[in-house]
Amino acid sequence: MPRAPDLETISSATNPRVKALRALERKKTRAETGLFLAEGPRLVQQGLDRGWHLETLAVSIHSLERPHIADLLHAAKAAGARLFAAPERVMSKLARKDNPNAVVGVFEQRHPALESAALPGQGLWIALYQVRDPGNLGTILRTGDCAGIAGVVLLETCCDPYSLEAVRASMGSIFDVPVYAADLGSFDAWCSAGGMVRTAASMNATVRHDLVEYGKRGVIVMGNEQSGLPADLEAACETLARIPMRGGADSLNLAQATALMTYEAWRQMGYAGAQE
Ligand code: SAM
Repeated sequence: MPRAPDLETISSATNPRVKALRALERKKTRAETGLFLAEGPRLVQQGLDRGWHLETLAVSIHSLERPHIADLLHAAKAAGARLFAAPERVMSKLARKDNPNAVVGVFEQRHPALESAALPGQGLWIALYQVRDPGNLGTILRTGDCAGIAGVVLLETCCDPYSLEAVRASMGSIFDVPVYAADLGSFDAWCSAGGMVRTAASMNATVRHDLVEYGKRGVIVMGNEQSGLPADLEAACETLARIPMRGGADSLNLAQATALMTYEAWRQMGYAGAQE
């Protein structure tokens, strides 16, 4: 049975290292430090497997004897992470209350430049204009990951993909789907340079989303939860698509609309690369 490596024990929630981790729940601290939190052994392992830099790993003292936690601690140590163990009453300050054997990892954020994205990529992309809800953003990363998209572009001011809520909702896809940030001007230049075909999901569209050709270098452009898409962004898109609706609601939820668009585009590619 693997034994956990020797590691420091922290028993007080007021310890500076614990406080530093807790502070990462705040956007300001994440921006200043370039770090973010990921909870749970599966997520932390996924981050390590994908080569993300793990800065710190905190685990519950009660989980130290578990073979998979011991393995994770060895992997984290080998990757250069700082380790500590803490009792549940301290871990519960760092992670979900409903997760008593908590594991919390602190990873370094990545901020790749859109211009450096594999030459205005082959494959399918998703662009989100001023997405505000981190739950929506995380869900979209997860959906995009399942459909094998090349990346997500956050247009103008969006919520933080590295917030706890977005990372949770992404279920680990934050480690798999590259996320870029761009203003409308640089997004337009990037699309033109790569011959990208933009299809906006819009309430103003008349063409049904399953009758649109998304193309081999397609970008699905989605609007803000309240205000949708601005007129100039819609005008820059090659096609506007509408997802059929009936009933009383005036629109679909952003993450659900993105899923419908993404899966239709992938269906048109014959679900290329899908697992059997
Ligand atoms: N009142 C907003 C509007 O006029 O666009 C509704 C915003 S909706 C919650 C968020 C985004 O989801 C929209 O901007 C659009 O991109 C997409 N969306 C939602 N329902 C859609 C539909 N039926 N057809 C096309 N896009 C839709």
